[in-house]
Amino acid sequence: MKITAAEQFECVSDVLCDVCGDSTRVEGYGLQFGTLQGSWGFGSVHDGERYEVHLCEPFFSEQWPT
Ligand SMILES: [Zn+2]
Repeated sequence: MKITAAEQFECVSDVLCDVCGDSTRVEGYGLQFGTLQGSWGFGSVHDGERYEVHLCEPFFSEQWPT
């Protein structure tokens, strides 16, 4: 989930993890997150729909350890 701030120009002020809802902001280092994208096409049940999921580092590294 991207949170945008309407200032002079639209900028992403924070990104929340779509699993646990935590902020992905690391103090002093900006936003640290992973994304998963789904873009469903012809023949799929969700034809034409597009998803972008944001994941925090703790969840991401738990699912896909390096
Ligand atoms: Zn999370």
